[in-house]
Amino acid sequence: MSGLYTIEDEDVIQKAYAGLLESIRSKMSSEDRANIQAAFELAKDAHKNQRRKSGEAYILHPIAVARICAEEMELGPTAVIAALLHDVVEDTPVTLDDIRARFGDKIATIVDGLTKLDYDHNADSPQAQNFRKVLQTLLIDVRVVLIKIADRLHNMRTLGAMPKHKQQKIAAETKYIYIPLAHRLGIYNIKSELEDLWLKITDRETYNEISHKLNQTKRDRNAYIERFIAPLKERLQKLNVKFEIFGRPKSIFSIHNKILKKQVEFEEIYDLFAIRIILDVPPEEEKDTCWRVFSVVTDLYTPISERIKDWISRPKSNGYESLHTTVIGPEGRFVEVQIRTVRMNEIAERGFAAHWKYKGVKAQADDVYDKWLETVREVIESSGSSALEFLTDIKSNLFSEEVHVYTPKGDIKVLPLGATALDFAFAIHSEIGIHCSTIKVNNRLVPFSYRLKNGDQVSVTTSKNRTANEDWLSFVVTGKARSRIRAALREERAKQAEFGKEALMRKLNNLKLDFENNVDLLSRYFGFKNRVDFFFAISQEQIDLTELKTFPVTNGRFDFTRKAQQDAERARKSKMAKREFASTHTGKIIINGQEKDDFAYTLAKCCNPVLGDEIFAYVSANGMKIHRTSCPNAVNLLASQANNIHKAEWGRSSAATYYADLVITGIDKGVGVIEAISSTISSSLGLNIRSFSIDGKDGIFEGRLRLVVNNTNQLNKAINALKKIDGVKSVVRQN
Ligand code: MN
Repeated sequence: MSGLYTIEDEDVIQKAYAGLLESIRSKMSSEDRANIQAAFELAKDAHKNQRRKSGEAYILHPIAVARICAEEMELGPTAVIAALLHDVVEDTPVTLDDIRARFGDKIATIVDGLTKLDYDHNADSPQAQNFRKVLQTLLIDVRVVLIKIADRLHNMRTLGAMPKHKQQKIAAETKYIYIPLAHRLGIYNIKSELEDLWLKITDRETYNEISHKLNQTKRDRNAYIERFIAPLKERLQKLNVKFEIFGRPKSIFSIHNKILKKQVEFEEIYDLFAIRIILDVPPEEEKDTCWRVFSVVTDLYTPISERIKDWISRPKSNGYESLHTTVIGPEGRFVEVQIRTVRMNEIAERGFAAHWKYKGVKAQADDVYDKWLETVREVIESSGSSALEFLTDIKSNLFSEEVHVYTPKGDIKVLPLGATALDFAFAIHSEIGIHCSTIKVNNRLVPFSYRLKNGDQVSVTTSKNRTANEDWLSFVVTGKARSRIRAALREERAKQAEFGKEALMRKLNNLKLDFENNVDLLSRYFGFKNRVDFFFAISQEQIDLTELKTFPVTNGRFDFTRKAQQDAERARKSKMAKREFASTHTGKIIINGQEKDDFAYTLAKCCNPVLGDEIFAYVSANGMKIHRTSCPNAVNLLASQANNIHKAEWGRSSAATYYADLVITGIDKGVGVIEAISSTISSSLGLNIRSFSIDGKDGIFEGRLRLVVNNTNQLNKAINALKKIDGVKSVVRQN
């Protein structure tokens, strides 16, 4: 059965498996035990041909992941079984049906979720897609995500054997997806280990330096902690409560962060550790006991009054409960003291993973996760189809801190930090948002874009004839407001388009032309992808319908081939073709609601965006660059530079021009291709060619053309016209 394992392998595998069994702390039935054994044997056999980059047997990886689930997350047998099987379907001949047949639906669903998270890297933004998937599986069974985090943790711990560029990629993805998730799920221990590992991989020198300094100062620090704790211990004993007290070092990553943020040296950081007091009391005595301990601490050491953080009365949005204060310890040093119970400590360290154990103990804590999952569902269901839009929604809704504000009746509303007065209106009801006419905060009128502060009391008035406005999208932050505004604008646009359609019908009627026979021809001629966009443009008077009467007609249809010839003729006469080449200059772009002029950004040369393309902004030391979302570099930038990526939209530009590169291939008929291409562009379309080169071989030619255009409509028109040239087989925009 295990023919490909050596005797040494067998020995190591059995030891690892025995270690796993020992680490399972939850109660197991004999059935659980048998299933775990079966999962182990199945996985061991399935992975027998595989080794990890380090050379060790592959099966050691699923065993280690299962052990993280059991030991560090304290998940039960179901998670352990699923973790053992997590790579089987993806990497081996074993199928999901095999797993369902042997282990049942629940396990099969979890393994399926884990498998799905692993591939499909072909979307416009794989990270965003992946993120969406992670969140979707979260709704099916939170354990999928917990196991995935365990998987990622083990991979990060053992990344050393991988080639450098792979290490960087995995580290980037970890920072981008898994660390915020671990944070949001409150799995503090694992989150902070992942952060340390991330720093170690991306900036080994800094990591080593801090870790070295921590070691150097350890003895002094421990002595100080001892001096701080000793008198406190004595007093706490008099309370007659079971407790533990110790000093806890801060993580290397958080120290590094502080050095960066406060621009200080390692030596100047006073809180390299915190004192933690953990109390063992029944749930009903928790709050009272914590505050009694607080008073003991502050009797002995003077508190810095503004540094009390009471997350017991109101837990953090990820479930964290604890009472923190900073006091002045011996030698005048500031020391942070954290007071919490055994239950709170487990929640603080293992978050969602510990949640099940205490479900029902404290209603408020249950609520925290239910509410969050509800928000996850809302964002997934309501966010736009574009992956980047989705990312923006996620970042502003799920991973940010919160503000608490009040309705006039005193009901509390929780919104993401940065939410505006208008977001509040939408949070009350989407109709109130859409028809919002004035907003008052603490009885004073504010602009809709007012950023809410904790404790604000907000009241909204509405008016029937008010409706959504495009500008609103530039400042609202909640997914709900965003999606409702988009829907309202779409509706409004469709209404406007109806007017455009009627105008066109009247016009065609006057010209005695059939509507259905001509509408799509016209729409394509003007460069629109669908009728609604075309009708809308008409309603906005972007298209001059009086022009239509000059278009040639053949058999009741507009004849654009003939029109092109006529135009070419006319252009030749007026020597339009000799017009000077334009150099590109650009218009305005909106980044996070702010308009930027063309001196504030440059268009990326790798993908040459044109007004109308879907775009994003990438900010680096070299300034801001605008890329198309389909740019081949987008994937890399998103994975490694997520924090420097911003959503971008085209602003209102009028006379701006852009470069677009086309590759034209076709059959070389000897004469006329170059002439046909250049006359189509210059004469019939009136566009400028910046550069043009053509290569031929074996009767096939490939031309490279750089056009100067105002927008994607013009570009599409050009592409369509070029495709119609005799002999041309394909016209493709580059990248
Ligand atoms: Mn794995």
